[in-house]
Amino acid sequence: MSSSRHSGIGMTSQRTRLRMVERLRDQGICDEVVLAAMGEVPRHVFVDEALASRAYEDIALPLGFGQTISSPFTVARMTELARGGMDLGRVLDIGTGCGYQAAVLARVAREVYSVERLAPLLAKARRNLREFRLSSVRLRHGDGLLGLPEAAPFDAVVMAAAATHVPPALLDQLAVGGRMVLPMLINREQRLCVIERTTQGYAEKQMDQVKFVPLLPGVE
Ligand code: SAH
Repeated sequence: MSSSRHSGIGMTSQRTRLRMVERLRDQGICDEVVLAAMGEVPRHVFVDEALASRAYEDIALPLGFGQTISSPFTVARMTELARGGMDLGRVLDIGTGCGYQAAVLARVAREVYSVERLAPLLAKARRNLREFRLSSVRLRHGDGLLGLPEAAPFDAVVMAAAATHVPPALLDQLAVGGRMVLPMLINREQRLCVIERTTQGYAEKQMDQVKFVPLLPGVE
């Protein structure tokens, strides 16, 4: 990939990205670490070239294979909730998609494991992430419902597909003090949920209404 695509011009420039960050601030994202990460990762590199000029608008965009990349606000919000103001060690990202959320997480966590069930999408994410040489991001083809027991426990789990119940394997793989952020289908509505593991058990909070693709079992 050429460096001009990376640095961007016009609608894909650093200036456009910084305007996006100011909008995120106005929309209520206040974690400076997250805002800095959103300013650093060039979202246009992760979307199809034909959509690059819309990469910094606050909209979800199609990724192919019937999947979508979440809006910048949703990615920032989930990252802010996962961090809870703390430095993160190891994080599990479920639903790699194009790899954008994984790249943002890599700026706020020491290690990122990202799992995707669709092999062709994972290949796309691998290509997108290659030029950043993020040695801290590891991509895996697998079913996120099962988590990644060999890399657990995780300080945070971020899931980009809506579940009808919290996958028990993921609760097990959360470190004490860790947080899981996921869209849950509740009364036919999707809500962003934050589940914190404490020494006593798990505490759940329901947050914003959201719209994600469904979490599907198995791999393809
Ligand atoms: N975080 C992504 C958003 C991708 S959309 C990004 O930044 O681009 C959600 C993704 O979740 C899709 O790619 C879909 O294939 C994947 N997905 C759905 N169910 C899954 C499962 N059980 N395990 C892993 N990935 C899953």
